[in-house]
Amino acid sequence: MRYRRTTAGVFSALLAATLAATAVPAQAQGGPALAAWQQAEPNQVQGLTVVQGDGYATLSWTALAGASDYQIERTPLAADGTAAGPAVISGVWRPNRQINNTSPTFADAGFAPGTRWQWRVRARVGTDPQPYSAPVADTTRAHWGAPDTPGQNLRTQWENTLGAQYTSDVDEYAYTAALDALSDRVRVVEIGRTIGNRPINMFVIGYPTPPATPAAVAATNPLMVNCNVHGNEPGDREACLIMARQLAFTDDAATLDRLSKTTMLIVPTLNGDGRAANSRGNSTGQDLNRDYSLIRQPETRAFVEMVRDYRPIAGYDGHEYGNSNTGDLPMLPPRHQNVAKGIFDESQHMIEGHMYTEGAKDGWWACPYGCTGANVGLGEETILRNTLGLKNVVNSLLELRSSGGPTRPDEGNTANNRRRKTYSALWTFHQFLTYHNANLTKITTARAEAITSQAANAGRIVFRGSRPIEAYPAPHPGENPPPLDAPTPERILEQAPCAYRLTEEQYLGARTDGPEGGRTTVAQRLAAHGWQVVKVGDEYLVPLTQPERGLVPLLLDGQAVEGLVAGERVNPNLTGTRNGPLTVTGVTCVDGAALRGPVRVQPGAVLIVTGTSINGPVDATGAAGVFLTGSTVNGPVRVVGTRGPVSVVGTRVSGPVDVVNNAGSAPLLAGNTVNGPLSCTGNAVPPVNLEVANAVSGPKSAQCSRL
Ligand SMILES: [Zn+2]
Repeated sequence: MRYRRTTAGVFSALLAATLAATAVPAQAQGGPALAAWQQAEPNQVQGLTVVQGDGYATLSWTALAGASDYQIERTPLAADGTAAGPAVISGVWRPNRQINNTSPTFADAGFAPGTRWQWRVRARVGTDPQPYSAPVADTTRAHWGAPDTPGQNLRTQWENTLGAQYTSDVDEYAYTAALDALSDRVRVVEIGRTIGNRPINMFVIGYPTPPATPAAVAATNPLMVNCNVHGNEPGDREACLIMARQLAFTDDAATLDRLSKTTMLIVPTLNGDGRAANSRGNSTGQDLNRDYSLIRQPETRAFVEMVRDYRPIAGYDGHEYGNSNTGDLPMLPPRHQNVAKGIFDESQHMIEGHMYTEGAKDGWWACPYGCTGANVGLGEETILRNTLGLKNVVNSLLELRSSGGPTRPDEGNTANNRRRKTYSALWTFHQFLTYHNANLTKITTARAEAITSQAANAGRIVFRGSRPIEAYPAPHPGENPPPLDAPTPERILEQAPCAYRLTEEQYLGARTDGPEGGRTTVAQRLAAHGWQVVKVGDEYLVPLTQPERGLVPLLLDGQAVEGLVAGERVNPNLTGTRNGPLTVTGVTCVDGAALRGPVRVQPGAVLIVTGTSINGPVDATGAAGVFLTGSTVNGPVRVVGTRGPVSVVGTRVSGPVDVVNNAGSAPLLAGNTVNGPLSCTGNAVPPVNLEVANAVSGPKSAQCSRL
């Protein structure tokens, strides 16, 4: 047995030496394994291997009983295999680094691409170093892309300077335009402009080509990376630019298969003015990651409109983090308690189930953001992580630890530090695409349930406050789980209103927030969020029976922590059991009722129904707005000639559904069960379902044929 194992080991070493650029692990050098075993010193690390990734090298070894931690030593090698410089300790593996401490791995990073190194690993018992392992030697991967293949041979300014310079705005635009021109898989769209008139570009990437319109992209359940909201946190942006090139020109069959099933959206630089100035905020000093709900700024407004139109189902939001004593890749899900539980759970599954597991294989240390006890990672709905969750997007914050800290002691060298950060982000974004592809059904199911449950306006409102996050993996002694951030009683509203009523002044009046010359009205901001609003006389009604229900009170309630405007709460005015026909005039808000008889909505009236059973037909002709969610109707539903919005979501109808000649924005027909035909004709804008299918037993015709 031992002899045969020795043969295999030698063969692997030869193979690794021959094919250094492939993923074959390089084994520890030296004589036959039997001899090495016999000669092994006490407590010497055994079984060291190295596998190259893009910008990192995964070292793995056999765990040593009694080891307190491990040190990773890296030595540059000349072509002849001799040392070309001093050995340094480039990494320290700590026992809380991964979720399975019995199989230690470390993603060594910071070195220049395409360079040759030797690695050794030693355990420490307490602070006492034990003998080094036998060395492994290997060449790190070169910059991605063949140097003589057009497109593949593009390089960013950051790559060309080996991390000495970040890619400038001008270089980004040229690189972006070149990708756009050279790859059929890439379309670059400008989603907006910064205050300083810099374009905010987005890569839309699909295989063989990306779908032509935002709605067509939305139908592919896209995933999205926001790479640079804080201008002085540029590491993720460089990863995004590299990843866009990889996706544009790769021949990797697995990646192409993933891109054939979805569309990847990459926004490299949302905050171009801040990046150019190396400042956190935009040119007015506004922290854009405290503005995604209020969208006072043109940058955040452009982003929110993109989310409205392209409808990503999953996202990552890239940052850098200043605490040096934490993991490589702190992550955090949307924690705000108004986020649908399924979106929170699936975001946690993405982080803990996928990223922690894959990180443990590849040697990257992902951990919960906020685990160092700082009062961060809370429930502000102004933060993209939470805003996206409230928009039913499975997502995570990503932090790149700014400094090397105690676990990466060779990052006093600035380029080493920058490379580690960017390549750890690149690893994360590739893993994100892999996760999305492997879990597509889970994500779309969570999203569909979130959209229907939000539209049902069920449950309490939390103005601010988070779900708890477990300290997993277990933090160091002296560290804590992320702050609990439970909502205080005054931030909870047990009985949700059915709508908010805004005056014309509130809705259309000039605002004082936002940059001078670029201020937007409440009407414009609610439109950017994609919310349905009913005009009633000279007032405006915003129902909570909407897919983004959890965000509505955070902007429109007087009790909100960072509200936009204090609207008047409209509470349900019809509950309980009611016998006989119901004629709806004015604004009728039905919640949790049983209506035994037909419902007729008079011209100009508004009907908002949720959680209700209706035994009889529903007939609305010429209404101002019709909302029917989370309900059952035993009879036909007919909505004709509505001036304003029409929304039927998560409702069971025994009978035909007709949606005809409605004049407002796209009627929303999603997640319904219709025992009968579904017919839509003559609507000013064809109805949509937000990719939440309806189960219809009869034919689906005309404008509804694809719903
Ligand atoms: Zn940040």
